[in-house]
Amino acid sequence: MPATATTPRVRFAPSPTGYLHVGGARTALFNWLYARKYGGQFLLRIEDTDKARSTEESTRAIFEGLTWLGLDWDEEVVYQAQGLARHQRDAQLLLERGAAYRCFCTPAELEAQRAAAEARKESFKYDRRCARLPKDEVERRVAAGIPFVVRFLVPEGTTEWNDLVHGRIAFPNKDIEDFVILRSDGTPIYNLAVVSDDIAMRITLVMRGDDHISNTPKQILLYRALGHDTPEFAHVPMIHGLDGKKLSKRHGATAVADYRKEGILPSAMVNFLALLGWSPGGDREVMTLGEMVELFSIEGLQKKAAVFDPKKLEWMNGQHLSLLSAAELEPRVTPDVIAAGLATADELAARRDWYFALIDLLKVRARTVHDIVRQAVPYFAHTIEYDPEAVSKQWKDREATAEILGAIRERLAALPQWEPQAMEAALRGLAAERNLAAGKIFQPLRVALTGMMVSPGIFEVLSAMGRDLALKRLDDAVRYTKSVNGS
Ligand code: GLU
Repeated sequence: MPATATTPRVRFAPSPTGYLHVGGARTALFNWLYARKYGGQFLLRIEDTDKARSTEESTRAIFEGLTWLGLDWDEEVVYQAQGLARHQRDAQLLLERGAAYRCFCTPAELEAQRAAAEARKESFKYDRRCARLPKDEVERRVAAGIPFVVRFLVPEGTTEWNDLVHGRIAFPNKDIEDFVILRSDGTPIYNLAVVSDDIAMRITLVMRGDDHISNTPKQILLYRALGHDTPEFAHVPMIHGLDGKKLSKRHGATAVADYRKEGILPSAMVNFLALLGWSPGGDREVMTLGEMVELFSIEGLQKKAAVFDPKKLEWMNGQHLSLLSAAELEPRVTPDVIAAGLATADELAARRDWYFALIDLLKVRARTVHDIVRQAVPYFAHTIEYDPEAVSKQWKDREATAEILGAIRERLAALPQWEPQAMEAALRGLAAERNLAAGKIFQPLRVALTGMMVSPGIFEVLSAMGRDLALKRLDDAVRYTKSVNGS
């Protein structure tokens, strides 16, 4: 579809100076959702004008992170540094129109002006003395090769816009300094480069973090001076840690790639990120990317800071894990199962149906792929370790435990078929004979089979484990409880 004036065009414009931060990913996601919802384009611009800090590795991390999250971009990636000639042309245009001027004040002079203002207890704002230089004096200095920056001549009045998140925002222009748009080496300052690029890319809505709100009046002034309509602006809330402070490394991992490494699913990550500052309404939380596109609206964006709760991310991951089929999970789980030495690829392939059923069984209680693998250990390993807490809680009386586990083993071994209903009847029968609550049988048995306090239903565990391994686990547990008791 050809782009028309009404086709929304949004962009994500990260600086490639580190990894893809969760805040950046969240901004990218909102832009992506907007574009996909309204049939527009989502563009990617790498803001690599800061040569000293921009790296290719960081650019790659941005591509990888977005791709992993499923946020595909339209058109070719734009590299800001490649727009240098246009940025300079735009600055030249502003000079010609009298909307900007050359400033020859040196850093030392500016510092002295600042110090003088401070001494008068005034806040410093450049006094635009260079704007008052006669034309021929400016020409003389330029011809003499005296270095200069280009400053924007902020007009009088008020600059305001109707922010799609915050409503009307207004800045009195008198509070805005004649800001620099071109450095003395001819490279553009952020605000000029962004406006020049957003015009060239025909961006219709600028959606970004609300730490940029103070840049927006400057950018609006630049649009006007360059003779362009302004796009719409939507400033999305910052992300805070649980302590209410701006999210930083102090709060734990802030790189998308770290969560990927930790076994978080991309579907859970985007779902979690979407809820940082957006709500689909009602109490709906678990959504696929497609459902989010469906439900997304600017009205659902919130003004107040969002709180990054790692526990919620884990919970969300668990939700998405259970939504996946065993076939979808298998490629994620298998490398870890193999790496943990639980089985070889061939062994897993030979028991494919059993293996898939096991994944289905374990995913329900798992929050991460690592959880699945950790829970899978008892179904593979020759011997297991007992969780000390489970032992102290469920095997308190060692002698009685050894005895009851022995009795359980006997009943199960006597079953003609390894079948849940028969197992249940046998064990409930045993409980009744001993006048015990069923839990007094099931809980110690669970520890014997899995070493853990929690597991799927005990009969599901017994079935999945199979007769031989389950009976062996019981033998081991009887031996363990006896020996510990005797020592
Ligand atoms: N490179 C800027 C940033 O990463 C882009 C801001 C904008 O979207 O205009 O914060």
